[in-house]
Amino acid sequence: MRLTVVGCSGSYPGPHSPASCYLLEAEDPRDPAGRTWRVLLDLGSGALGALHVHADPLAVDAVLLSHLHADHCLDLSGYYVMRKYHPSGAQPRIPVWGPAGTADRMARAYDLPLDPGMHHEFDFREWSGPIEVGPFSVTPVPMAHPVDAFGLRVSADGVTIAYTGDTGPTPALEDLARDADLFLAEASFRSVDTNPPDLHLTGADGGRVARRAGVRRLVLTHVPPWFDPADALAEAAAEYDGPIELARAGAVYDL
Ligand SMILES: [Zn+2]
Ligand SMILES: [Zn+2]
Repeated sequence: MRLTVVGCSGSYPGPHSPASCYLLEAEDPRDPAGRTWRVLLDLGSGALGALHVHADPLAVDAVLLSHLHADHCLDLSGYYVMRKYHPSGAQPRIPVWGPAGTADRMARAYDLPLDPGMHHEFDFREWSGPIEVGPFSVTPVPMAHPVDAFGLRVSADGVTIAYTGDTGPTPALEDLARDADLFLAEASFRSVDTNPPDLHLTGADGGRVARRAGVRRLVLTHVPPWFDPADALAEAAAEYDGPIELARAGAVYDL
């Protein structure tokens, strides 16, 4: 499985990265044609443009939204235009998984009538349990955030990536991350600050979960441009002895 960081900036696009979007690619061993399947974890502000650099955006098989904050879903608006009006013709309808209300939320984002909204372009489905997309098995895990939000645990090719989306500390994080090959943990907050509950993680929180869950590698992401990501890295390193990196736009992980 290949993970490409399309965007990793926290809460809004920064000077060096769009907001949240991660491209996962894997081949389906059951498919005789052996084509590469592609799913997007989130499609936040600014991410659609950067996606062009890494893959043909029309060759995406599904979009998996962790939650409906703008920095995780808003570029589905541009993606709707691209699929609906592309000169090569209207594109096949692809599934978009998200929390309850995703279809209406995205229609409002584009100022479309709720019916048909984007239903002709996207097959909206609500998270309610594990799903499969080609070679990818995806388990949504409810997180602690002011809106319905899910961490996503994705397995393919015998490896597992666990992505927190946005969340405050919660015991569910250890279930999400258990024995993952790569734990993609948000680190929006700093431990030196007084932080509200049920909103975001610090680098130390991510490091603690990584240690307790026995993950093989920790990648910190979603650091807002107003903070120095080195702080998140230092906090996590004090809690977790394994390999830690900061996500950066364009980084590729072959697992
Ligand atoms: Zn966010
Ligand atoms: Zn959020």
